[in-house]
Amino acid sequence: APARPSPGPQGAGVPGVRHIIAVASGKGGVGKSTTAANLALALKKQGLRVGLMDADVYGPSVPTLFALNERPEVEGKQMKPLEAHGLKIMSIGFLVDAGTAMIWRGPMVMSALTQMLTEVAWGELDVLVVDMPPGTGDAQLTMAQRVKLSGAVIVSTPQDLALADARRGVAMFRKVDVPILGIVENMSYYCCPNCGHRADLFGHGGARAEAQAMGAPFLGEIPLALAIRETSDAGSPIVAQQPDGEHAKAYGAIAEAV
Ligand code: ADP
Repeated sequence: APARPSPGPQGAGVPGVRHIIAVASGKGGVGKSTTAANLALALKKQGLRVGLMDADVYGPSVPTLFALNERPEVEGKQMKPLEAHGLKIMSIGFLVDAGTAMIWRGPMVMSALTQMLTEVAWGELDVLVVDMPPGTGDAQLTMAQRVKLSGAVIVSTPQDLALADARRGVAMFRKVDVPILGIVENMSYYCCPNCGHRADLFGHGGARAEAQAMGAPFLGEIPLALAIRETSDAGSPIVAQQPDGEHAKAYGAIAEAV
């Protein structure tokens, strides 16, 4: 049986996994999961071996994003991750029934996350992208503390409220010495697919300014785009669906920057 690392206070690493990158947001609905999925695909496109772990216990979206709903097979003491578009994927959503109300207390979140890290046969990976639970509460802090993260990507919309949450996210990771890889502005602006008119629905550029104010890298902006939402809902995120399109390029630039 493979040796199991003990999740000590020094941070649980995963044997064979070189880097663990957390994708986080101060609140839900800003596009954290969409960004995590497309970032993972963009890293894969660079030739890296990539895993995606959906740790968003409150609303796992990876099963929908990749149209996956089988139960993972168990081999020995480990679960085999599912695969889609060359990514190894594990989600808390594969393990519980859809529609089940999940009430998680902090320690339960932590143990579920630890299990997904250490009891899954990730194999050799260059990067494991972790779609974090939203928020900057105790569960997130504990996770940031206990998992050996190489760095964190913070996703925010340009709105002030989201930015205030993003600021808390940056502060949280800094508190536990996790490097901030940078901030992504999602839903940055809107381009009408019919007439091409561009509208800054949520006020464009806020995350770039905020990143600058916090001394964190700004990784790039992703527009609010129908194609991004549609491909996600259809189970094949935009980077997989339109690998040479403009949105894939934008996610590619973010993957280069991390
Ligand atoms: P979170 O993980 O932060 O809760 P999601 O990634 O699940 O957010 O996104 C919430 C909703 O917004 C989803 O329906 C998703 O498809 C949509 N969405 C996210 N980012 C974009 C975008 N850039 N353009 C269009 N729709 C988006």
